[in-house]
Amino acid sequence: MVSVLGRLEVDSRRLVMELVRLAMFSDGVEEAGAEAVDGVAVTRVVFGPADGAARGMVEELAREAGLSVRSDAVGNTFFCWEGTEAGLAAVATGSHIDAIPNAGMYDGTVGVLGAIAAVRALKGSGFQPRRSIEVILFTSEEPTRFGIGCLGSRMLAGVLSSWDAVKLRDQDGLSLEELRVEAGFAGELGEVQVKPGSYAGFVELHIEQGPVLEREGRQIGVVTAIAAPASLRMRVEGEGGHAGAMLMPVRRDALVAAAEIIQAVESAALATGAQDTVATVGMCDVFPGAVNSVPSRVELSLDVRDIELERRDGVLQAIFAACDEVASRRRVKVKREWVNADAPSGCAPEVIAAVESACTAEGVRARRMVSRAYHDTLFMARICPVGMVFVPCLGGVSHRPDEFVAEAEIAAGVRVLARVLAELSSRV
Ligand SMILES: [Zn+2]
Repeated sequence: MVSVLGRLEVDSRRLVMELVRLAMFSDGVEEAGAEAVDGVAVTRVVFGPADGAARGMVEELAREAGLSVRSDAVGNTFFCWEGTEAGLAAVATGSHIDAIPNAGMYDGTVGVLGAIAAVRALKGSGFQPRRSIEVILFTSEEPTRFGIGCLGSRMLAGVLSSWDAVKLRDQDGLSLEELRVEAGFAGELGEVQVKPGSYAGFVELHIEQGPVLEREGRQIGVVTAIAAPASLRMRVEGEGGHAGAMLMPVRRDALVAAAEIIQAVESAALATGAQDTVATVGMCDVFPGAVNSVPSRVELSLDVRDIELERRDGVLQAIFAACDEVASRRRVKVKREWVNADAPSGCAPEVIAAVESACTAEGVRARRMVSRAYHDTLFMARICPVGMVFVPCLGGVSHRPDEFVAEAEIAAGVRVLARVLAELSSRV
C-alpha cells in the first residue's frame, strides 16, 4: 500500500501545451473558415504522415521523462519505467493518438500525454515503482483506416489473430502488412500478442465523451464497466411487384416485414428494463425504392449494446425469434450477417477501489459510471484487471473540433492516474 505519496506536482500548463503541439500534426489542410467553431480540427489516420510525426513527438517526450521505448510489429509502442523488483508483471496505462477525420484534440491523447505527465509527477515526488510502469500508445483505436476499432489492443490481447490481421486492407487496397512495415514497424505480426501474465493491471485515462460528469459538477468518472456492441447486417427478402396490380392478400412486402422487425428490436431492448441496454436500427435500404413498386428487399443494420454479455445476447435472441416469426407469418426470408460481437467487460474491483481511493486522496468529486463507448481497455480486460478514469469534456462533445477539456480537469485526471499507478505498481 502506498501511503508515503504526498502531494503530486503536475505541470498541467506544460501538458496542455504538449496537447496543443500534438494537435498540430494533422492530415490534410483544414479549409479556413469552413466551420466556424472554436478548437482545433484534428485528423490523424494511422500510419499516415501526421501519425508518424505525432508518434515521434510522443517518443521524444517519453525519452525526456527517462522512459525506455519499444514498439511491436503493429506499432503499439511501450514506454517503460523499470520497477525495482525484476520479474514482476508490469502495470500499464495508455491510450491512442489516432483521430477520426475532423475530430478534436483530447480523445485518446489525454491518456497518452497525460500518462507521461503522471510519470513525470511520480518521478518528481521521489516515488520508485516496485513493478515496472508502462505507458502504451496503442495503434489505431479508431476504425477509420482498416474498418476495425482497437486494432493494436485487439492484437496485443490475442483477440484478433495475425492470421486475420494480414487480411486487413484500407480503402485504397493497401494492406496492414505493407503499411506497418513502411511506417517502420518490423517483426512478425504473430508476435504482437503478449504472453499471459505480462500485465498485473491496466488503467486508461480518457475523456468522458458524454455529458454526465459536467452536468453533475464532478471531476472524475470511475468506470465500472465498458459496453460493447454486437452489430449485424440483416436482409429481408420478399417479393416485388406493381403497386397497383399486386393485390394485398398475396403480397410479401419486405418493407412492412422490416417495419415489424424494427419494432421488435425496440421492444426487445426495452423489455430488459435496464438503462444500459440499447438497440438501434440505424440504416434501412429499400429496393427497388420506387413509389409504385412493392418493396422486394430491405437491408437493415442492427446495433445492440450492453454492459452485460448475457443480457445483450438475450436481447439478440429475442430479436432473432421475432425475425423468424415475422418471416414465417409474412412469407419472407430474413438473412443475418454478423459484423462483430465483442464481449462487454467489467472493470476489476481492485482497480476500481484504487481509483476511488486516489480520488479521495486528491479530494476530487467522483462518481461511478459505465463507459458506453468502447476503448482499448475493453481488450486489455481480456488479459489483466482493468479500470478507467474519465474526465469531463465540455457539453459532452467529442469527435468534433470543438471538443474541449479544461486544464484543471486534465490535471485532476493526471493526479488520480498517477496515484493509481503508484498504488498498483507497489502491490506484490
Ligand atoms: Zn478514444
